[in-house]
Amino acid sequence: MATPQRVHLFTADTLPTSKLDASTLGSKGANLVEMTRLALPVPPGFILTTHACKAYYHEAHTLSEELRTEVLEALNALQKHTGRVLGDPVNPLLLSVRSGAPVTMPGMMDTVLNLGLNDATVRALADQAGNERFAWDCYRRFIQMYADVVIGMRADVLEQFHERIKQRENVFEDSNLEAEHLKELVELYKNTILQRAGIAFPDDPMEQLWGAIGGVFASWNNKRANEYRQLYSISADLGTAVTVQTMVFGNLGATSGTGVALTRDPSTGERRLYGEYLLNAQGEDVVAGMQIPHAISEADRVEGDPPSLETALPIVHGQLKDIVQQLESHFGDLQDIEFTIENEKLWMLQTRKGKRTAQAALRIAVEMVEESRITREEALLRIDPQQLDQLLLPRFSPESLDEARRAGRVIARGLPASPGAQVGPVVFDPATAMEYAARGNPAVMVRVETSPDDIQGMRKSAAVVTMRGGMTSHAAVVARGMGRCCVVGCRDFDVRLDEEEIHIPGHVIRKGDLLSIDGTTGEVILGRVDRMDPDLGPHFSTLMEWVDDVAKLDIRANAHTAREARLALNFGAQGIGLCRTEHMFFDPERATAVREMILASGEEERRHALKDIVRMQTGDFKAIFEVMGGLPVTMRLLDPPLHVFLPHNAAELEAVALRANVDVNTLQDRADRLREVNPMLGHRGCRLGISYPEIYEAQVQAIVNAACEVHREKGLDITPEILLPLVSAPRELELLCLIINTTAQQTMDAQGVQLDIRIGTMIELPSAVLEAGKLAKHVDFFTFGTNDLTQTVLGISRDDASRFLPLYVDMGILDDDPFVSLDPAVRHFVASGVERGRATRPDLTVGLCGVHADNPETVRFCAEAGFDFVSCSPWLVPVCRLAAAHAALEGEDE
Ligand code: ADP
Ligand code: MG
Ligand code: MG
Repeated sequence: MATPQRVHLFTADTLPTSKLDASTLGSKGANLVEMTRLALPVPPGFILTTHACKAYYHEAHTLSEELRTEVLEALNALQKHTGRVLGDPVNPLLLSVRSGAPVTMPGMMDTVLNLGLNDATVRALADQAGNERFAWDCYRRFIQMYADVVIGMRADVLEQFHERIKQRENVFEDSNLEAEHLKELVELYKNTILQRAGIAFPDDPMEQLWGAIGGVFASWNNKRANEYRQLYSISADLGTAVTVQTMVFGNLGATSGTGVALTRDPSTGERRLYGEYLLNAQGEDVVAGMQIPHAISEADRVEGDPPSLETALPIVHGQLKDIVQQLESHFGDLQDIEFTIENEKLWMLQTRKGKRTAQAALRIAVEMVEESRITREEALLRIDPQQLDQLLLPRFSPESLDEARRAGRVIARGLPASPGAQVGPVVFDPATAMEYAARGNPAVMVRVETSPDDIQGMRKSAAVVTMRGGMTSHAAVVARGMGRCCVVGCRDFDVRLDEEEIHIPGHVIRKGDLLSIDGTTGEVILGRVDRMDPDLGPHFSTLMEWVDDVAKLDIRANAHTAREARLALNFGAQGIGLCRTEHMFFDPERATAVREMILASGEEERRHALKDIVRMQTGDFKAIFEVMGGLPVTMRLLDPPLHVFLPHNAAELEAVALRANVDVNTLQDRADRLREVNPMLGHRGCRLGISYPEIYEAQVQAIVNAACEVHREKGLDITPEILLPLVSAPRELELLCLIINTTAQQTMDAQGVQLDIRIGTMIELPSAVLEAGKLAKHVDFFTFGTNDLTQTVLGISRDDASRFLPLYVDMGILDDDPFVSLDPAVRHFVASGVERGRATRPDLTVGLCGVHADNPETVRFCAEAGFDFVSCSPWLVPVCRLAAAHAALEGEDE
């Protein structure tokens, strides 16, 4: 079989077949072809395909004879088309040799401009342009780029000569060097290359061309490009195409220039021509940041800045505006465009999909629907649920932040490793961080740097701050992974772990001191900065309406207080999938009553202590029911091992002794007896309800009382859902359902109200999955608790996993952290539990409430497995709703 053509010409008259796309031509090349097809002004050229790149690597980094022949044919055609000839001393063709992979890797690979120049052609160029300075500027740029890309000489080696001459001549702008200086530079460059690299700079343009093509192919494998590919999971096998294109010149004088334009503002999404340009400049000048570019639009120009393109070259500006619009309409998305102006003639050099912030992504997607450019479904699919995350994080209120800044309370500025705005007391080790979290007061954990031993502490902290480390340090990577607010590299911090102090000039910060952390700016602020819920704006609401039209899976939230319930509701939660009733026990005022209940000597004493708890919980439950206004609310009965509520110290023990009228030593004895060796698999969950039915009775009373009162007072129809944790056997459910039903009925009779009550069971043990068919006969709904299910299916304790999990992931034993992304074995158990349950009870409601619910991947899995709802963290409700919409749309496609 003949090798397919590997070099393709593009001119106004000749185009490659439209079957060739970015995978072959590279995205830059494919879009240049597309722009030529649209009859836009694109300098003509030819493209060596990605297949040619693969062959180059296959053939030990050489260009085969066949490929050279194809290039020569294309070059001939290009010469005919332009009327110029490579190396011709009168009318020379000059070329750019550009990289371009199937997926854009901006700036990662190399480009050579002004190829074809030598001591003869540079004179021709000078004569034709009537501008000697310009010609020599092109020449010195060419040598500099060629030395970098082809000869492999570090760019700064030659650049330093450039800087030196600028200094000597006392000029700041490149464009102020004269032709004679540039000639001098060219000589210096060539001599340096000869001395340092032992290579005479090639005068023969053909040799230059082969060198540049090889150099660009080789740049596919440079360090930068490899790292970029790893970061974005791009295959190393794709290869880059090479575009060889006729040069156009933006450095011909005051009516020439080069720039970058976007069809909308990439940070806000506002629709307007946005971008920067430089007059009398070439190629990289705008992006390289050596010179400060000017605004394209007059509206963006800051007073005192040089004129905008709009005023400098109004006709060109108008043309650019039209073309840019045309491109956006054609490609149907935000475009990021490179252009060059040669003597007032506009040339298009590149267009690609523009990168944008989450906020801009949202606005652009919604407005493009309103402009009838894309459908609602396309708009939904264009927004990555994970990206939406950025918009939903709480922020510091601008006033409060300003005040802190003015008061000099910003004590450090580190790297913004993971976004969020958090306030908390400082702690210096993971154990203390976990203690603070258990008391409902998550801490700011400060470390020199973090290690895998810190992971559980990080998970339970409000924020993490490190003294050392960069954006890819352990702390930064882990914190981003778990969505924890994090600032790293606070170099000014002298963290003294042993003394539990941070020293900075003028301050000592001690354990327990409040810090406010801004993971978006990297600021560390002394004391409290007020937070506010994010301002989501009208585009967000519109998008969420569209979400609800397509999503089939309900998204509920895990919420334990009325405040959390309100947040969830505002974010569009369709109910509460998990209310952990014990969360209300941590409040310091209540803790003593709860401890009295736990340390009671027998049923009598326990019932006495429970009376207060019922009263308090009734109030809590009422508040939640009221907020949710009749949407489903699932209350889970007491789950954790009792010892988590034990007094931590003598003072707490004494408070209980006083209240219960029992002496301290007796209480201490009882507390000691409650300690367990392995509480996670110990006396917890529904086992508590079996051994102390009075506890569950009391909680059911509180729930039903609350529902009846809200029904009477607000006229809301409430169907309380009561959820039993850690069920392993049908007999447990049989006994507990009896207790619940009896208590509920008695409570309703006493209230004179009749409500429907739904009972459900957590499915979080392998035995429960196996018995799911029988369990389903006793209950109305299943809620999969994937945290415990993961622990028990894999036999991994989440609190001890940090020692080996990273290694297991590294070695490919596990695909991913099973506590973030559902393990395949656990998925299997979940799917089988649903199937068995529905086999005996087809109308069984099925939901999921582990931390996995926060992961859009889980939402997709649940949608496919026929779930009714997923219950996630309140502030992630929109992320999961969008994920549910994606799942529904992608499901339709299949
Ligand atoms: P990158 O992938 O780094 O953006 P490009 O291939 O786009 O590299 O080239 C870098 C710069 O060179 C661009 O800013 C572009 O404006 C300029 N350039 C490329 N080809 C030409 C050409 N034919 N004429 C003038 N300038 C060019
Ligand atoms: Mg570049
Ligand atoms: Mg470019």
